[in-house]
Order: sequence, then structure tokens, then C-alpha cells
Amino acid sequence: MGSRKVTSSEHLDWQGKHVTVAGLGVSGIPAAKALHARGAHVTVVNDGDDARAREQAAELEALGITVRLGDGATLPEGAELVVTAPGWKPDKPLFTAARAAGLEIWGDVELAWRLRGPDAAPWLAITGTNGKTTTTQMLASILRAAGLRTAAVGNIGVSLLDAVLGDEQYDVLAVELSSYQLHWAPSLRAHSAAVLNLAPDHLDWHGSMEAYAADKGRVYEGNRVACVYNVADKATEDLVREADVEEGCRAIGFTLGTPGPSQLGVVEGILVDRAFVEDRHKNAQELAEVSDVNPPAPHNIANALAAAALARAFGVPARAVRDGLRDFTPDAHRIAHVADVDSVAYVDDSKATNTHAAEASLAAYESIVWIAGGLAKGATFDELVAKSAKRLRGVVLIGQDRALIREALARHAPEVPVVDLDRTDTGAMLAAVQEASRLAVAGDTVLLAPACASMDMFANYNKRGEAFAEAVRGLAGAGA
Ligand code: ADP
Repeated sequence: MGSRKVTSSEHLDWQGKHVTVAGLGVSGIPAAKALHARGAHVTVVNDGDDARAREQAAELEALGITVRLGDGATLPEGAELVVTAPGWKPDKPLFTAARAAGLEIWGDVELAWRLRGPDAAPWLAITGTNGKTTTTQMLASILRAAGLRTAAVGNIGVSLLDAVLGDEQYDVLAVELSSYQLHWAPSLRAHSAAVLNLAPDHLDWHGSMEAYAADKGRVYEGNRVACVYNVADKATEDLVREADVEEGCRAIGFTLGTPGPSQLGVVEGILVDRAFVEDRHKNAQELAEVSDVNPPAPHNIANALAAAALARAFGVPARAVRDGLRDFTPDAHRIAHVADVDSVAYVDDSKATNTHAAEASLAAYESIVWIAGGLAKGATFDELVAKSAKRLRGVVLIGQDRALIREALARHAPEVPVVDLDRTDTGAMLAAVQEASRLAVAGDTVLLAPACASMDMFANYNKRGEAFAEAVRGLAGAGA
């Protein structure tokens, strides 16, 4: 049995190395295959032992990989390294045993980082509680507009391992990273990185807000050119201050207000750069107009500024920022305008699955009939309701935890009419849209921004958004 442990500093020769891969699934299977192909002795351990797991196990076993189903807790004999699926909680017995044995534990991102070739493309990394996917895609669009070979990868469609090991050549990668992935990525060193915002989320996994913030902050470690932070969210700036970065790496802020030196911001409807310009104390570079951002909601302009900051840190010209933003269309169910019916706009932000996201969404409209509710995941709604109360024409509540929102409304917005549908069946969305249309007057926005997860009523947030859009089309049809 090999007694050599894999450590951070070691040059990686996988031949004969005993690696435990924790978790079958989207990251575990490709990780096991990639390590096996490099000559490692791979054992996959998995908690589940269902038909699907057996099928996957059979496929790996046919390649010569050992798979142990129904026991993800015990560390296999002789293990020298553990590679885990990012979602596995750090307090699992497997990890306790691994740490006690002095082993490193890597997630999918760390593995991709270690397996990338010597001429691999640099990474521009993005994390935050909300806006990661949108900002990463905006960044990729800007980089593409600059003629660079790139892709949006990570916690988004394409896995980093595929991007790093595939045949496609890249000049730079736009990388979305979750807090879980960062937790398990001890040696990742991005070219530049951004933390978009920080609000309590996934605290049961991380254990505390401090631990969650610290994992997010890992994204700044070792940055070479820029650490991009949100001027309006001091916690992100604190993380930059605490990070150990390369000599000469700069802290770059983004703000919806007028930017100071070393910041990007907004002046009279123009996105401007006062960071990556000659003599930033006197000069500013126009990048794009607010109307080039799709949709031009405040939080999305912030996303655009963060993407622009990373692109500019990589040397992208101003023109490409504008073109890339213009070319960008957000993924479905993120503030998607579905239709106007009787001069009321219907907007689907089903992806607003937590209160922080819903707050941003509600801040984007003046007069709103809000459709909310679902699974609260331990959240409280007082702050969200108090901040948004003045914009609410009315509220329609659906889903399992709707009472929590109803009580917050009673406390902070007692004058706002509330329709509590008392339903958790899939068909409730149709009734919700009909109720909302009754509450709305011309010029209002009916906004689906549930501030909750969808799984009590729908398979996922996509299905919830589709149900909303279908109900709206029904209204439009009836009105025509
Ligand atoms: P993530 O990948 O972090 O989940 P998305 O880009 O998919 O983020 O956006 C998810 C939701 O978060 C959006 O539908 C929107 O409601 C909200 N959102 C997007 N950007 C921001 C932001 N900068 N601040 C707060 N909320 C945001």
C-alpha cells in the first residue's frame, strides 16, 4: 500500500496512487474516469445503492474502477487522497477519517485545477450569493466579443473537468463557483475574481455565516491581477482585505453610483471604468450604456459592472464590453418579460429562490403585484417585506411556507391586500396569475419572485416559471 499522501505542493504523478472518489454522479463519475486513465487506483464510495447507482457502478467497474455502494462513510484502506462531490457536507465521517489520516480532500474544481495542462487558459472566477450564472455568462459574452476563445464553465452547464481536459482550446475561462466548490478548492489561484454579494444562504452546510463568507473569500486567494468587490456590500470588500494575493494585484470596486478611482460605476446612464484607464485619478472610460444591459434592472447593472471589471482586468477593450453586453440574453426564468396584458407587465423571476434575490427583483419595479411562496429553507421574510412594502400593490401567496410571508406582510405591510391561495398543487399557479391580474392596474408589474424554493409544488424552478408563463398566455388569450 502506498503510504505517500498527496499534498498540495507535490508534483502530481498519479501512477499507482490510491484515490477515493466520494459520490457517484455528475462530478464523481468523470473524476473517477480521469484519475483511472492517469493510472491511479480509484475507489468510488457512495451512500446510495439504488438501481441507478448500480448501473453507474457497473459502468465504472467495467473499466477497472472499484465501487463501494451503500457506504459513503468509511475511508477505504490505503487511501492517499479523497476527491469529493462538492455538495458533500464537510462534517461527514469520511472526511473526519480522511483529515485524521492527514489526507487532502479535493472537490471537482480543485481536481480540474490540478489536472489542467501547463499552458492552460487562466480563470476569471465569479462567486456570490446571487447573480453568479448571469454574470458569468455576461463575462463570457464580453470575452467572446473581444475575439477570445472562451466558455462559461463551472457551476453552470459545462463542468470544469470537461473544459480543462477537453480538446477545445481556450484563451481564458469564465468560471462560476459555488461556495461548496470553493470550500473544497484549497490551491485554486484565479487570474482575477469577483464576489458579487453576500447574504445568508446554505448556512446548514457551512455551519455559520462566517464559515460561508470564508469559503466565498477563497476565490480571491492568490489572485494575480484584480479582486473585484461590491462597494455596496462591505462584506465583499472585507474578504478582499483578508485575502493573500499576488504582489501588485488590485482591489477593484463596482458601484451603481459614481465610481471613485479604481472603481467601475454609473454616471448619467453610462457604465464607466475608473480602474483600468491611464491616470485613473483624472480619467474615466465609457464602457456601455445602461440600456445595453439586459434587463436593465439595478442588480443586473451591478452584475454587468462586475463582468466588465473582470474583462477589463484581462485587458479587454471598452468596445467589446459594450458589444458583449448587447449580445447577452439571460437564461430563462431570470426576470423574463412574458407578456403585457391590459397594460400590465408579467415578469417571470422564478429563479429568485431566496429572499436576497427576490429583494433585488422587487427593487426593479415601481408598483408590483407579487406572487410569492414555496419552500422557505429556514429563511425569514421581515426584512424583504419591510424593504419592498411601498412597492406592493398586492400579494398572492402559494406554496407550503406561505404563512411565513403572510405573517411578515401583516407585520410590515398591513395595508397591502393579500390573497392566500392555500394551495400547493401544481394548478395553483393558474389561480395565482388570475388573482394577480385582478389586483393589478394599468402600469403595474405582476412579478413571480417567490423568495422560496419550488420543490413543494414543482420539479424545479424552471417548471414553476413555465407554469407561470403558461397561465399568463392563457390570460392574454382570454383578453384577446
Ligand atoms: P445564481 O447563479 O447565483 O443563482 P443567477 O444569475 O442565476 O444567480 O440569478 C438568480 C436570481 O438572483 C435572479 O433570478 C435574480 O432574482 C437574482 N439576482 C441576480 N443578480 C443578482 C444580484 N446581483 N443581486 C441580487 N440578486 C440577484
